[in-house]
Amino acid sequence: MTSILVVEDDAEIRRAVQHGLQERGYAVVTAPRGLAGLEVVLADPPDVVLLDLGLPDVDGLTVLSMIRTASDVPVIVITAQDDDPTMVRALDSGADDYVVKPFGTDQVAARIRAVLRRAGRDAEAPASLSVGGLVIDERTRVATLDGALLELSRKEFDMLHLLASRAGQVVTKRELLAEVWQQAYGGSERTVDVHLSWLRRKLGESAAEPRYLLSVRGVGVRLVDPTSRP
Ligand code: CA
Repeated sequence: MTSILVVEDDAEIRRAVQHGLQERGYAVVTAPRGLAGLEVVLADPPDVVLLDLGLPDVDGLTVLSMIRTASDVPVIVITAQDDDPTMVRALDSGADDYVVKPFGTDQVAARIRAVLRRAGRDAEAPASLSVGGLVIDERTRVATLDGALLELSRKEFDMLHLLASRAGQVVTKRELLAEVWQQAYGGSERTVDVHLSWLRRKLGESAAEPRYLLSVRGVGVRLVDPTSRP
């Protein structure tokens, strides 16, 4: 069960959020003060924290930065009014999203689902892919081959990243057009052929003498690890 910690000093709002989220199937723990909330994060980390910024004991932004020194838990901050400077500071301090009072439970639940989706995606996606001597880092968009930087265009990088993410499997030219060029229909497979030949040249190979990029005639291309082939 997904657990939510609600740190809010206003008893009425605290109960309303707790009730609304419990109705939607979440396990809810509440804390009326900032330090009590921080203790919960440290002792029994929840899946998401809802953090009011106006707390009587410690400023919510301070609580947020204390949480951030200890945990990557998604934090949605709650603010009393549309206060842009505070929101900007909260987001800069590591908040994942925010809601402005008064808010409904539907809105909070939607924000919770969104931060959980993002957290899940980040956890699933490895920081970098490596196949043989190739290392491809999606976040920095840097690709290297045997430690040497590859000077790739945007499309070449996207293509290499897609092929490496499915290393060993055939990726069709249609799929490449759809994923890299966002052309699910139409679009010329010739475009893929041309970029593939450029990519091959940068990897120091050719269609006649491939190492990483094996063409599968009439179907597509397969990225393999040449260092593990018999
Ligand atoms: Ca408050």
